[in-house]
Amino acid sequence: MSLRSDVEGLLYDGQTSRPWRVEVSLEAGRVTARALDDPGVGIDWPLDEVRETAHSAGRYRLTRGDGDARLIVESEAWRTLSRRSETAIARRERGAERTLIAGLVGAGATFAAIVFVGVPLAAGPLARGTPPKLEARFGSNMEVQLKVAFQPCKGDRRGAAILSDLGDRLAEGSDSAFDIRVQAVRAPFVNAFALPGGAILVTDDLIAQARTPDELAAVIAHEIAHVERRHAMQAAWRSMGAGLLLDAVVGGGTGAGQQTVLLAGGFADQRFSRDLETEADARAIELLRARNISTRGMADFFGRMANRQDDPRLRRAAEWFATHPDTAGRASRAAAAALPGTPALSQNDWRRVKAACQVGGR
Ligand SMILES: [Zn+2]
Repeated sequence: MSLRSDVEGLLYDGQTSRPWRVEVSLEAGRVTARALDDPGVGIDWPLDEVRETAHSAGRYRLTRGDGDARLIVESEAWRTLSRRSETAIARRERGAERTLIAGLVGAGATFAAIVFVGVPLAAGPLARGTPPKLEARFGSNMEVQLKVAFQPCKGDRRGAAILSDLGDRLAEGSDSAFDIRVQAVRAPFVNAFALPGGAILVTDDLIAQARTPDELAAVIAHEIAHVERRHAMQAAWRSMGAGLLLDAVVGGGTGAGQQTVLLAGGFADQRFSRDLETEADARAIELLRARNISTRGMADFFGRMANRQDDPRLRRAAEWFATHPDTAGRASRAAAAALPGTPALSQNDWRRVKAACQVGGR
């Protein structure tokens, strides 16, 4: 079967820093890309060996195994292209299942452990054994579904970009397998979610409640830690049967969408254990310090949320509290760790971030 391509991408050949504009094709189970201005430059990879990870909003990074070359493509275009070949998808899913199972066995989580100990207890090893490629794919399915309920903010676009850059800056010191992508969404409660695969959604109410850029940076650093330590994937494994998740992860086609809706519904109620929250806070403090941002903001934000938990007028704030156990204890630990620093954003940038969710002077 032959498929013609109209997909363009950027190829980094792994040897020079120059990106090549390329035309991408998928034919007979092979991904090829040819540079538009030099037909001698290109790649030809078996689809089976291509790793697909999230790159930035709306883009995928394709690599072959552990090679240095990488191909950046628009997610939509890539999906359309790969969907056109049924055989390619079937092959990819078989490959994905094999990789997942191999990964799980590699992590010491045997299916016996899942059956006898149960998914909840095996969730940690299962998450660590899930190949990043599959986590990214699963996460992007979930992101699409979540954004039906929680729509991206449509205010100041520059503010949204500054918010995303703040996430990138905080993630620089992180050894996350995923590109961190921080986005503001509209939701009637104060919270932030770390999705499998690196998407972090921060609600407009949380941004409104934050009094300084350092407070917002602390929340983002905390969510980055959840991604890096793969807590989000762990929560997904815990809240679902293994079979269902396997399906949702490798599915990508019919049926998987419905399951993802269910998952997304449960995810808005994402709860991590006290231990995971403590681990994420400790890591967030390291990430903030690496950027010379004071953890005073973390102490202030958690402190304020803790004080409001019993205030009926601020039930929205209490949402944060419900999904973040021991907020008061965590506030005092962050206060104890506080050192002076430089503000996470300039006053001007902070105003733009605040405006990211304000439409028509709301
Ligand atoms: Zn958390």
